[in-house]
Amino acid sequence: MSEVCFSCGGAFADAPGGTAHAYMASTPGCWDAYGAVLAREYQNAVLFGRCHRLTVDAFAVQHPGDPAERRARQSFWIHGASLWMVLRMGRPHHEATAALKSLAQGDFPVPPAKPAFTLTHADVLCAPEAEHEVRVKAWAEAALAGCADAHATFAALAQRVV
Ligand SMILES: [Zn+2]
Repeated sequence: MSEVCFSCGGAFADAPGGTAHAYMASTPGCWDAYGAVLAREYQNAVLFGRCHRLTVDAFAVQHPGDPAERRARQSFWIHGASLWMVLRMGRPHHEATAALKSLAQGDFPVPPAKPAFTLTHADVLCAPEAEHEVRVKAWAEAALAGCADAHATFAALAQRVV
């Protein structure tokens, strides 16, 4: 059996238990699948270096969580800014990682109304590891494209730290 995640819209095999993350809400199956994507990257230093920044940011943007929760609002905006830096400004991943730390201050507005995404990490996990990098890049592009209403703010946040 599979279940569609209420946040990212991906279909994932059922998993027991609840989600473990404090503020990025998803279905248990979605969270389990994210863990499997991360495991691939932790076990392969090349994939980790090329993909991990995008993987973490794409998941965060697709799972904004409870808008009443300050960390959830912050997560959406700063990870979106990181995607913007890498995908639209061509900055290296380590610069985006450093930017996340300096942006993680203050308060952030409620993320835009529920976006629709053409790809999720389900589309990464169903592909062989040899395709992992290209799938992660496509997923990250879809995460960014799905929240067009947020692009101007992502760009402004990114400009603040470059
Ligand atoms: Zn999800």
